[in-house]
Amino acid sequence: MTTIPTLQLNDGRSIPQLGFGVFKVDPAETERIVTEAFEAGYRHIDTAAIYGNEEGVGRAIAASGIPRDELFITTKIWNDRRGAAEARAAMGESLEKLGLDHVDLYLIHWPTPANGSPVETWETLAELRSEGLTTSIGVSNFDERYLPEILETGIVPAVNQIELHPQFQQRAATELAAQHSIAIEAWGPLGQGKVDYSSGVIGEIAERLGVSWAQVTLAWHLAAGRIVFPKSNRRERMDENLAAAQVELTADDIAAIDALDQGAAGRVSADPAEVS
Ligand code: NAD
Repeated sequence: MTTIPTLQLNDGRSIPQLGFGVFKVDPAETERIVTEAFEAGYRHIDTAAIYGNEEGVGRAIAASGIPRDELFITTKIWNDRRGAAEARAAMGESLEKLGLDHVDLYLIHWPTPANGSPVETWETLAELRSEGLTTSIGVSNFDERYLPEILETGIVPAVNQIELHPQFQQRAATELAAQHSIAIEAWGPLGQGKVDYSSGVIGEIAERLGVSWAQVTLAWHLAAGRIVFPKSNRRERMDENLAAAQVELTADDIAAIDALDQGAAGRVSADPAEVS
C-alpha cells in the first residue's frame, strides 16, 4: 500500500498530506465511498457541514475499525453560523453527525464579508480547540484580502484551505500563509474537472513519466508542500490519486507547471468576495 507523506502543522500536529475530499459526494453514497477510500488507504477525510454528508462519513469511520488516532477528520462551519453561540452549536451538531468526540481540524468555510466580521467565530474556534473538541483550527477561502483580520487576533490558523491548481496558484495568499507557517490546503486541486490539464505541459510530463495527468498535478502540489484531498467516486481513481505520492517530478517539470499560472483569470469557482 502507498505510503502517504505527513506534514507538521504550525501547532505541532501532523496531517496526512494526501487525503480524500467528499464535496458533492451524495449523502446516500457517502458511507460506501468513504469506506472504499479507507480500503484504498486514505486516512484523511475532508468534509463540511454544508456537504450534508457528515453522517455518512461518520458511519464509514465507525464501520472501519481503524483506530481513531490513525484518522484525520476535517469539517467546516457554514456561513450562516456566526458568533460564539452559533459556532458552539454548529460544532456540536457536526460532532454528533460524525459520531466523534473531536475532529482533527475545524475550519471557517468562507470569510463571507457581507455577513460581518468572522473574528468572534474565530475566537470561539480557539476555545473549542482548548476544550478538546477539535485538535487544530483553520480557515478556508481567506485569501490575502481576508487573512489579515484573522491574524490580528493573535490566533494563527494551522491551515488555509483555498482554491488552487496550476492555472490559479494564488501567489499572494500562499506567500502570506508562508510568512506565518500556515499550511496551504489546495481545494479543487485538479481544477474540479473544469480545466483540461490532460494536454499541453502536464500531459507531456505525464506521457514521459508513464503516469496520468492527475498524478502529475497532485505530485506538483505535494512537491510544493501543499495538502490535497482530490475527490472521486471511482475506486480506480482513488487508487490512482493516492499513487501520486510516489510520482517524482524534476525541477524543470515543476517550473513548467508553475509557469501555467494565470493569476485571477485562472479561478474556476467562486470568488470569496461574492460568497455569503
Ligand atoms: P477536484 O479538483 O478534486 O476535482 C474533482 C473531480 O476531478 C472529480 O469529480 C472527478 O471528476 C475528477 N477526478 C478526480 N480524480 C481524477 C483522476 N484521477 N483523473 C481524472 N479526473 C479525476 O475538486 P473538488 O472535489 O472540488 O476538490 C477536492 C476537495 O476539496 C473537495 O472534495 C472538498 O473536500 C474540498 N473543497 C473545499 C472547498 C472549500 O470552499 N473549502 C470548495 C471545494 C472543494
